Order: sequence, then C-alpha cells, then structure tokens
Amino acid sequence: MPHDLQLLDVRLPDRDGRWNVALSQGKIAAIASSPLPPDGERLDAQGQLLIPGLVDGHIHLDKALLLDRQPAQAGTFAEAMAETLRLKQGFTVDDIQARARQVLETAIGFGITNLRSHVEVDPTAGLRAMEALLPLRQEYAWGITLQLAVFAQEGITQQPETLPLLRQAMAMGGDVIGSAPYVDTDPKANVRHIFDIAQEFDCDVDFHLDFLDDDEPLLLPFVIDETQRRGWHGRVCLGHMTKLAWLPPEELADLATALRESQISVLALPASDLYMMARRETHSQRRGVAPIHRLAAQGVNVGVATNNILNLFTPFGDGDVLKICTLLAQVLQMGTTASHRLCLAMATTQAARAIGIADVGLNVGDRADLVLLSATSVSEAVGAAPQGRTVIKAGRVVAQSRLDQQLFAPRNAVVQ
Ligand SMILES: [Zn+2]
Repeated sequence: MPHDLQLLDVRLPDRDGRWNVALSQGKIAAIASSPLPPDGERLDAQGQLLIPGLVDGHIHLDKALLLDRQPAQAGTFAEAMAETLRLKQGFTVDDIQARARQVLETAIGFGITNLRSHVEVDPTAGLRAMEALLPLRQEYAWGITLQLAVFAQEGITQQPETLPLLRQAMAMGGDVIGSAPYVDTDPKANVRHIFDIAQEFDCDVDFHLDFLDDDEPLLLPFVIDETQRRGWHGRVCLGHMTKLAWLPPEELADLATALRESQISVLALPASDLYMMARRETHSQRRGVAPIHRLAAQGVNVGVATNNILNLFTPFGDGDVLKICTLLAQVLQMGTTASHRLCLAMATTQAARAIGIADVGLNVGDRADLVLLSATSVSEAVGAAPQGRTVIKAGRVVAQSRLDQQLFAPRNAVVQ
C-alpha cells in the first residue's frame, strides 16, 4: 500500500528511542525503528513527541463563548442555569454556528481530532442547535470528527413536550442521546426516557450525572442497573460524577467494579467542577473532581474533557484538552511518569473509547489522527501543554502552530 505521509524521527509516549511512522489510506501503516524506504510525502519531526489525536469527549458548542454577552453577577450554578436559559431564548442558527465555528477551528489547531458536543433540545431551544450544528459535522470533517449528542438540559418530566423534540432531533441525525437527570423532578423517569430513545434509535447514551454537591443520593446505581437491564454495556458515558469525590474508598471500589462490569465510561470535567463544587463549605473546601485515577486503577475506562468554554458554567478556558490534562494531573495529584501517561491516555485513547471510538491510538491499523508536539516526553507535554503542534487528521496535515516569541534585550546587555 503506498504511503501518503511518513513521519520521520518521532518520539512515542510508551516506547523508548526514535521511530518512523508511515500513514496510508487514513490509517497507521507502519511503525519502525529502521529507516523507511521513501514513499509519499515525508515530514522530519526532529525528535518531537507523536501522540494520538486529542479527543474532547464532552463539550457544549451551542453555549460556548457567551461570557461577553452575560458576565457573571453572582457566579453561582443557579445563575448559570437561569441566565443561560434566558440567553438560549435568543439563540439563532447563525449565532450558534458562528460560536461553534470559532471553537471547532481552535480545537483543530490544538490537535483535537474527535469531539462530542452536547446539543440542547427542549421547548426553549427547539431544534435550532441541531439545525446549526448538523451542517458543521460535514463542513469540518476534514479536520475533526464531530459527534452530536442530543441533550435534554432542562429536564423531561416537568416539560414532557421535550420528548417528541428529542426524538425529532435523533431522526434529524443525532448520534447519541443524553440528559441531565439532576435537574429533573423525577430523575429516574428521566433516565428511563433516555434509555427508551436509545433503544429506539440504537444509539449510545451520555448522561450528565451525579453533579451538584447536595445531599441527594447517587443516581449511579440506578443507571448501572438500567445499563445492564437494557444490555447497553459499553454504550454509556457519564460526565461530571463529582459526587464520587465524596465517597469513602470502599464504597467507591464497589461502584468501580459495577462500572467496569457494565463497561460504563466516566469523563471528569475538572475546569467546570472545580469552579462549581463545594460552594456550601466555608473552609477546608473539597475539590469535587471525580477521582478517575482511582476508577482507572480498577479497570474502569475514564477520560477528561473540557465541558464549557467561557460561559457562566465555566468562565475559563480555550478548549485545549491538553491544558485540562495538566489541570487534572494537578488536582488529582498525578505526578509520576506512569500517571502522566495515564493522563494523556485520558485525553486520547480512553476518551475516544468513552465516546465509542475504538481505533484512536498508536498501533498499526489505528486511524491516522495524530499530533506532533514540541515536547520530548509525556511528562513535559502534560506538565506544560506545548504551543508547537502539527495536527494530522486521517493521514493529512490539517494544522500547524508554533510559539512565536521574540526577546528584545537592551543594547548594553552583557553577552557571554
Ligand atoms: Zn456538560
């Protein structure tokens, strides 16, 4: 098979030495330490670190970049819900597309090659966000694979007219169905409705689950039961799961076993969760980030994602999931080389698996979605996300960034 692109002299996350990688027909065709016979285009990486394409498994394109429009007055979760709902009434297809394009283009530049966006569908938003984002899936397919998760953000039981809208959005081309049961007056009914739709459309499920730091019991055991009862093993992804951070180790271990057996993935969203959690505490404030490193130690598939960019839920961030990796490593105190590798996997291979993509990785036959980083080790890349990146989607270079910095030393500076 002729090679489309050869990446020469790369470092790899899990192997010592320098390697040459050949890409052909959108896949990794060869990984060799010996020289490759020249074939197709060649790129001399000069020892840069080659990683699998970054994956953002949980973001909200439709409510990104709203902070200028509505700066926080109180900075609370209640304000974020109420004000975002108010802004949503004014969302147009053009407005959603303009903000989504900005995020997608930045994401491609960062090396995010696969992304799942939640898409709000309810009586307020109608189907406008679906109408806005569906065409972008095709428009940006050259740089990023976009999954659309039809999302009931405002609850279902208290506004049942949401249900036919969710089904309409799935019929329009939604990839995944999901909701936020914590805002529903009947969270269990909410979960059942979502699984019903998943079965009707034979699609994966994505819940915003066990978020908030109230005293309500965990909904996770119910979701695990439904997953098993419906035979939805390996098809459920859970975002937030902040309440897991409050559990004693033995309770967490039991849940981890059940998660692993049901093949349910968990995505931590530290930028949002650190900001919103533990607000009731006046001192010794807890962190409120799901302890996904502990779940990983028990064999649960876990990842990390951005969630929101510059809105009232998360008035920070630029959408770079590698920077979120750094934050996660800091918060979960992941300092060893092995834990840095795990962290990177959480933003690449494991995040991909969480959203149903099995072939993101660095093995022959994996999709040629890759990033060359200006770094020589995983610890360096996780420690400080490098700006220098060459992004490859389906075997083709789609973006290149480098640090552009100039120093202006005074004329009388001592030169040694
Ligand atoms: Zn979310």
